Amino acid sequence: MSAVILSGKTYAQELKNQAKINLTELIRQTGVTPGLAVIIVGADPASQVYVRNKHRTCREMGINSQVISLPENTGKSALITAIKKLNEDVSVHGILLQLPLPKTLQPYESEILYNINPSKDVDGFHPVNVGKLSIGEKCMVPCTPLGCIKMLESAGIPIDGKNAVIIGRSNIVGKPMANLLLAKNATVTICHSHTQNLKDITRTADILIAAVGRPAFVTADMIKPGAAIIDVGINRIAPKKLVGDVDFTAVKEKAAFITPVPGGVGLLTIATLMQNTIEAARQQLL
Ligand code: NDP
Repeated sequence: MSAVILSGKTYAQELKNQAKINLTELIRQTGVTPGLAVIIVGADPASQVYVRNKHRTCREMGINSQVISLPENTGKSALITAIKKLNEDVSVHGILLQLPLPKTLQPYESEILYNINPSKDVDGFHPVNVGKLSIGEKCMVPCTPLGCIKMLESAGIPIDGKNAVIIGRSNIVGKPMANLLLAKNATVTICHSHTQNLKDITRTADILIAAVGRPAFVTADMIKPGAAIIDVGINRIAPKKLVGDVDFTAVKEKAAFITPVPGGVGLLTIATLMQNTIEAARQQLL
């Protein structure tokens, strides 16, 4: 039997509806409209699309939004100065630095991110938030993994006591995903490029999260029948063709639940960013 396809659009709308309720309540209590500032350095076309989508969604939701576009040749100190200015700006409650940075700034990525005030760090990349997540304290949680958890929960897919396998150990997806699943009492395994016998591990997964960045990396023989498959990957295989990390056509015949790409996890990432921005504002204002 073919898997249930988890539509990002449906679950993202649910999250946005909830966010809108929280937003209305916050504005009623404080009289302040939350504000998000997104900094983009350079002209990477994919990043520009992501930033435009974030800006548009803020506007639709009723969140103030500003985009700070800096030239490709911006230096580290100029970028840090721009971040510090936003830290001081009381009308800005969330700050997001769009990644990837241009090549010249990439060696300084962590150092630059550390300058974002942790309470405005709506991407959850600051070490204070990373540390709090790892010890199970309330914090800003990275948007993509948070979206995956919300989707699993909304779809009624059990997490407690289940085997969850994550392929990928990046700081923005794999590691926070592991911490969130652990906090929900899953038994978590993280795989990466040095993992041996990957297929043997993925076949144990009740929940399989693919965050590799390689088209059709997860094939049907890697899946436990009846598993829930969350495909985080976004791979451009032609100018207008995006695919995930999972061989969707084959895997959907064996899995119980599967997310499509496009139209899956990516849509939840923006919805959780809206939630994080409202929550950041709430914590700063109340
Ligand atoms: P990274 O490149 O930072 O991480 C990829 C991970 O995959 C690494 O941990 C790497 O292992 C692992 N990996 C690579 N090859 C193999 C292999 N052969 N076997 C097992 N593991 C392997 O990517 P990100 O985490 O940033 O992103 C992953 C994907 O998710 C990308 O396609 C990205 O575009 C997408 N993405 C989607 C988002 C959304 O909103 N839907 C948001 C963020 C990312 P190692 O650490 O050993 O190198």
